[in-house]
Amino acid sequence: MKRVLLPHSAIVKSPGLLPMLYTVRELSEAIGVVDRTLRDWLVAGAPHFYDQTGHIWIEGRDFADWILSIRKPKRDRRLNDDEAYCMRCNEVVELVNPTTSVIRGNLLVHKGKCPNCHCTINRGGRLPNQPISTRKREEIKRPRRNDWSIGTIFFLFRNTLPTSSRQKTKIQNQLSVIGSG
Ligand SMILES: [Zn+2]
Repeated sequence: MKRVLLPHSAIVKSPGLLPMLYTVRELSEAIGVVDRTLRDWLVAGAPHFYDQTGHIWIEGRDFADWILSIRKPKRDRRLNDDEAYCMRCNEVVELVNPTTSVIRGNLLVHKGKCPNCHCTINRGGRLPNQPISTRKREEIKRPRRNDWSIGTIFFLFRNTLPTSSRQKTKIQNQLSVIGSG
């Protein structure tokens, strides 16, 4: 099935749809999307039917249920190492060719490509607090300093709260190294 991106208005307005039949125009106005988008969704699997004269009708509650069914589930679990949230696709995806690198201490970066839009995703992570086996540690590639991309450093800044000013200074130093390189 074609992927469906749900505008916010459709998500908040569809629960208010009535148990009645809507035309394409009526429904698109009710949920705040353009006709064209709604017609795409019908092609993508939204419930509808044609009457004898060839007009499309959509039952409000059936449609609301469909919207619910295709909404991405909220993140209610930890992501696996090969999963990440794609900002473009707005959903959790399974990374293509995922690799994990230790950045510093127990900070990790899981890197891979989105299977939908093929953009590169860097996701921060942490080694578990409990000691990991030597084997696992060896499996994790240790990057040389030059392997750090600006994106990675920026990512670290945004997504980690340095626990000490010393740690923060280290990251800042690393930024300046990269900035001058
Ligand atoms: Zn994507």
